Amino acid sequence: MNYVGIDIGGTNIKAGLIDDSGAVRDTRRIPSIIDDIDGLLNSLIRIIADFQSAAPIEAVGIGIPGLRSTRTHLIEVSPNIPSIHNLNLEMLLSKQLNLPVVSENDANAGAYGEWVAGAGRGLQFMAYLTLGTGLGCGLVLSGYLYRGASGYAGEMGHVNIEPDGRPCACGSNGCLETRVSASGLLATAREHMKKRHSSLADTDKLTAEIIFNAAMQGDAAALAAFEDTGRFLGIACADLINLLNLESIIVGGGVVASGDLLLRSTIAEVRRRAFEPAARICPIVQSQLWPDAGMIGAAMLARDRS
Ligand SMILES: [Zn+2]
Repeated sequence: MNYVGIDIGGTNIKAGLIDDSGAVRDTRRIPSIIDDIDGLLNSLIRIIADFQSAAPIEAVGIGIPGLRSTRTHLIEVSPNIPSIHNLNLEMLLSKQLNLPVVSENDANAGAYGEWVAGAGRGLQFMAYLTLGTGLGCGLVLSGYLYRGASGYAGEMGHVNIEPDGRPCACGSNGCLETRVSASGLLATAREHMKKRHSSLADTDKLTAEIIFNAAMQGDAAALAAFEDTGRFLGIACADLINLLNLESIIVGGGVVASGDLLLRSTIAEVRRRAFEPAARICPIVQSQLWPDAGMIGAAMLARDRS
């Protein structure tokens, strides 16, 4: 049995032909079409047809960067892809493809992927955090993907950590993702660059990767930026542990490729803030499937829900 998993991002769409164990047999990547729904649908249909020419497909799963209602199946909030706002994307695609299609928030799909085929296998209680432009989060509780009353649960990125903090893309301010994300890391690095000597140049070309490379060379501002970001990530992990008594927190995303540089201060903060017996059983680990977690998870949701 084969499934197609699609992860629609603000920049790229990743699609994979996935077998029923979660193994990736083939992949495609195309640029996202953000403002033309017909163009987006046609590009998705072309990719799926391409996979169908190689193997029969049972169902399609789609991870979307927004809030999808489990009551109406409409995408209620989609800041990065405005053209899918208020659409029932899965129904539109299902009609055209004559295949079952399911959709899910992209971070929830990533959590499901890690739970079924990655670092969360065999667990009953886990959280998945993914640090990209923003901060995505998905929860598996009591052996189920936890979606809340309408499918909007798990928005840890928009939990407030500083009442008067930085403005957030959601319209609030002081949200966790203004600190713990690639854009949060950049903002923190810029603050440190003003306070101490740094080899970094404050231009619009500054990226998380450039900050990482500077940190590896011992740049004080870059190191401090990673330490601060890791510390806020640790506060979030301690909150999740104290609230939910998890068995593992799985952290993915481009920024996490920096490994110990980030997670050292995360783990120190968890030890400082979470109840010891709860923290002891909850390792903070790196994603096994990233950057494919959302794509694989979407395919596994198609396997299990269609
Ligand atoms: Zn926010």
